[in-house]
Amino acid sequence: MSHITPTAATFTELALHPKLLEALSGQGYTAPTPIQAQAIPLLLTGRDLLGLAQTGTGKTAAFLLPILHRLAAHRKPAPPRCANVLILAPTRELASQIDQSIAAYGQGLGMSHTVVFGGVSQMHQVKAMARGVDFLVATPGRLLDLISQHHIDLGNTHVLVLDEADQMLDMGFVKPIRQAVAMMPVERQTLLFSATMPPAIASLAASLLRNPVRVEVTPPATTVDRIGQSVMFVDSGNKLTLLKHLVKSDKVSRAIVFTLTKSTANKVAEALTDAGANAEAIHGNKSQGQRERALAGFKAGHVRVLVATDLASRGIDVDDVSHVFNYDMPNLPESYVHRIGRTARAGRDGLAVSLCEPEHRAWLAGIERVIGQAVPVSTDHPYHSEAARLSTMRPPVMGGQRNGGGGRNQPPARPQQGRPQQHQQRRPR
Ligand code: AMP
Repeated sequence: MSHITPTAATFTELALHPKLLEALSGQGYTAPTPIQAQAIPLLLTGRDLLGLAQTGTGKTAAFLLPILHRLAAHRKPAPPRCANVLILAPTRELASQIDQSIAAYGQGLGMSHTVVFGGVSQMHQVKAMARGVDFLVATPGRLLDLISQHHIDLGNTHVLVLDEADQMLDMGFVKPIRQAVAMMPVERQTLLFSATMPPAIASLAASLLRNPVRVEVTPPATTVDRIGQSVMFVDSGNKLTLLKHLVKSDKVSRAIVFTLTKSTANKVAEALTDAGANAEAIHGNKSQGQRERALAGFKAGHVRVLVATDLASRGIDVDDVSHVFNYDMPNLPESYVHRIGRTARAGRDGLAVSLCEPEHRAWLAGIERVIGQAVPVSTDHPYHSEAARLSTMRPPVMGGQRNGGGGRNQPPARPQQGRPQQHQQRRPR
């Protein structure tokens, strides 16, 4: 595996297909982001790639542009039910966004593409696959369903992208991923993107990638410098009042509030709306239509606060989020990094405020170890709890299973199950 340095300062230097250059200027992109500058030249040569990058870095274009370029040069229509390129993503939101990006970047190339995910009828998905497509974007569970019903055949898929692989593993998708890969040709180009590199990802990468180049941008452990972080210690009974107090500020133009459970997300969204803040909850129990409406409202600005569980929030691509509030502390350091990365995107500044109750104090300590810094304490609010700051209470044992089924939006139970020492063992990088 080799490390590489940025090469190109402009898209023209990357020698991409003229139709791609047109699409990029249509999108208003003037220069490649660091991951694009690093990855695109290598991917154009057909290399496998291990990309360590979060959303917000431009990673989607980093993999789509070279794949589109190569496909345009050696185009073979996919046979019925087949796809030339398969992109796997953990959530329907992210899968849909990738599909939209294919449409945006590939508009002049006439590529066919479709997206399949669970929670909706498969009828249209089956129909879209019947003729074969250039690009298939899928969540792993629904992909396997459709393969087992013989609606999809991966025997002609020569390019595979695994996006947000760490999240797919957390959701219990490792088996469907391996099953899908086993049906693909051995001669293929494989790309794996992940925001973090726990051992399970390293071993998946080692088994799927051949002599990959490794590209790393904004290592998650250092977090994004532009995010102003703070923690407020508060007793659990005061958290909702404190959050309402914070959200009232007119500096909060667009905020995401994170909760650990779906029921808390509902409760918080209702309380904020009652307090006049126009909030919507998004989580796995909401229908696809409800989630899409909430996201569209958030993007358009009618919804000022989106209240989300960790998994539901993945891939939300909204650039000007002024604040991230951790209503519940995340029980995994990686989730903290993902959550706060929702703000300060696209060069803007952002604030991440965490409300920490006594029994989550140990989680905060684990996060601080991983990010390699203490989160500054803010006592500038009416509900400061010194008891919470000094608490030595053990974190609660979370219920729920790590699987791809109905419990997907339950908080991952990792600290108590498979890897009990996770918080303690991770060293700041
Ligand atoms: P991603 O990391 O793929 O989720 O992309 C994050 C955001 O950056 C998306 O809104 C993209 O449209 C945008 N983006 C990607 N590449 C560029 C670029 N070269 N210049 C400006 N914006 C970009």
